[in-house]
Amino acid sequence: MHPDLPALIELQELDQKIARLRSELAQLPVAKKRMEGELEEAKQKLHKAKLEQQASELVRRQKEGEIDELRRQLARYQTQQLQARKNEEYQALSHEILVVTGEIEREEDNVLLLLEKADILQANVKREEQKAEQAEKEIQGKKKELADKESRLALLLAETESERERKKIRVDPALFGQYQRLVHGRRENAVVSVVHGSCGGCHMKLTRHTLLRVEVATEIAFCENCGRILFAIP
Ligand SMILES: [Zn+2]
Repeated sequence: MHPDLPALIELQELDQKIARLRSELAQLPVAKKRMEGELEEAKQKLHKAKLEQQASELVRRQKEGEIDELRRQLARYQTQQLQARKNEEYQALSHEILVVTGEIEREEDNVLLLLEKADILQANVKREEQKAEQAEKEIQGKKKELADKESRLALLLAETESERERKKIRVDPALFGQYQRLVHGRRENAVVSVVHGSCGGCHMKLTRHTLLRVEVATEIAFCENCGRILFAIP
């Protein structure tokens, strides 16, 4: 191998490690946002369940008020009936009493149905409350996990970056320039090994001339297709 290459290969490994660490770090806010979204959803569901319960209770109270009013009406009719002197008046009030009694029965049935529904809605609120609590607890744990991971990664990144600075000095400046151009040209691996006579980056067959150059290693060899720096695995 060309004597300048081992230092460059080490530098590349560090660059790749730095890129990995940076992308891992960039993922952390995404994970946090997703968790917060899940919690928000759980809270919304709880809120909705409570609103449903309140609405149903309001309807029930209104109906109970109407029943009270109907009962007062019934009592008035009954009193009037006791005081009735004429038969037609008595009959008319009997009819009114029948109508009001029917209405009371219907409304009472409705209230019973609403009471049954209230149990279901109450259970629903309880369930959503538990889910929201659970989500809240989980998120606290996970947030701590993420924060720990972030500081671990940030420390590792800082260490790797300073190690890279130290390694960089040991790489031949001209070769480093070529490497940088390849990296900026979005070659995730700028220095590659020859694999079965092909470039380890673009996989194109290399010419005999290039292979020989890699072999002799007195000069730096480049892939004639993609321009990557080539080395032979010893
Ligand atoms: Zn190539």
